[in-house]
Amino acid sequence: MNYQKPKGTRDLLPADTRLWQFLESTGKRIASLYNYREIRTPTFEEASLYKRSVGDTSDIVSKEMYEFTDKGDRCLALRPEGTAGVVRAVVENGLLNDALPQKLYYFSNCFRYENTQKGRYREFNQFGLECFGAENPEADAELIVLIGEYLRALGVNKYTLLLNSIGCPECRARYNEALREFAASHIDSLCGDCQRRARENPLRMLDCKVESCQNVLKDAPSILDYLCDECKEHFEVLQRLLKAQGVVYQINPRLVRGLDYYTKTVFEFEHDGFDGKKLTIAAGGRYDNLVAEIGGKPCPALGVGIGLDRVVQLTDKALIPVAPLYYIANITESVMPFVIELAKEYRRAGYSIETNLTARSFKAQLKYANAIGAKYLIAIGENEEKLGEWQIKDLETGEIVSSAANFENL
Ligand code: ATP
Ligand code: MG
Repeated sequence: MNYQKPKGTRDLLPADTRLWQFLESTGKRIASLYNYREIRTPTFEEASLYKRSVGDTSDIVSKEMYEFTDKGDRCLALRPEGTAGVVRAVVENGLLNDALPQKLYYFSNCFRYENTQKGRYREFNQFGLECFGAENPEADAELIVLIGEYLRALGVNKYTLLLNSIGCPECRARYNEALREFAASHIDSLCGDCQRRARENPLRMLDCKVESCQNVLKDAPSILDYLCDECKEHFEVLQRLLKAQGVVYQINPRLVRGLDYYTKTVFEFEHDGFDGKKLTIAAGGRYDNLVAEIGGKPCPALGVGIGLDRVVQLTDKALIPVAPLYYIANITESVMPFVIELAKEYRRAGYSIETNLTARSFKAQLKYANAIGAKYLIAIGENEEKLGEWQIKDLETGEIVSSAANFENL
């Protein structure tokens, strides 16, 4: 029996994980520059948490969620996204009683039963950031700038930032009414899903990926005409802040997110570098009512999910710092104890060292050192051991780059 990985999952091999580690270390570095701190939450939660927050009628919950009943008859779901679990954890652990704002980030694998294709998997990875307790558009602007800085640090720069405001529940109620009326007069041109959405959650129609629906909805009323004064002001100030920081964006009044919990600001970073196909590499927005919805005291909040499986394909590999590998070869068997000691000292000093773990001849060790991409060779024979001196040779150029004596010189 030959086993294969489940559909929509991937094995990340050492050649890939080098890049993933770079995405993660860069993310952690940038997040901490903005005082975001790491949170880790469970891989699965009560399924009802997602139904409540992401929304019953969203594709994520209604079609894509991995739901299961455990042996104790609990209805659980593998996390399809990161925000709900973080909000649950923040409320359950009383973090909102601490000084606010609280800024949190995570690297989480997420699970959705999707039609797999390039950049779309059933297990995928998000770098998420959530900020609790900041109602001002300054927080929205800071988060958007942070994402830009993250992408910049990875050498990802050809994207479009799409921006919209979907208002508060009051603005949205009026807008949904207008959309419902619009849908009623075009009902025959809409797909089955949108006919249902028109009844249940008209805003969702704007997110439909069916081309004929997109064509009809081009003429739908714009949410921006339905914003209340407060939401309008918030959106205008956000734009002023972004402009002042040189952030280029496009307003897209059709932009809604696939999750129900958003209010006011929504945004997407879209990249067209996937064989000419546009894919969203980061998406987020404000969710001022979600904390209360999940049982916490009302608390404005906002966040983003950065799709690392897409970002990883765009990252400039030349930016990854490489620590050179040193190979310490033993010319004779007898110097092995000295080589082991030397390797230990070098490693303590922060160098990456490989030594001979086989019964290979010196020549075979050289071949191996080249095969594993070692940059430097230190050949130790009885003479080197006796004198306590050895040379460091660049394997690519063949040059002796330095001589070292004893361990003090490391
Ligand atoms: P899409 O419209 O592409 O399906 P979405 O609206 O479902 O995206 P979100 O729930 O906002 O996506 O998730 C945030 C980010 O996570 C997306 O912008 C994307 O980069 C990434 N993402 C979402 N689903 C997948 C997936 N199945 N495989 C890989 N990355 C994904
Ligand atoms: Mg999706």
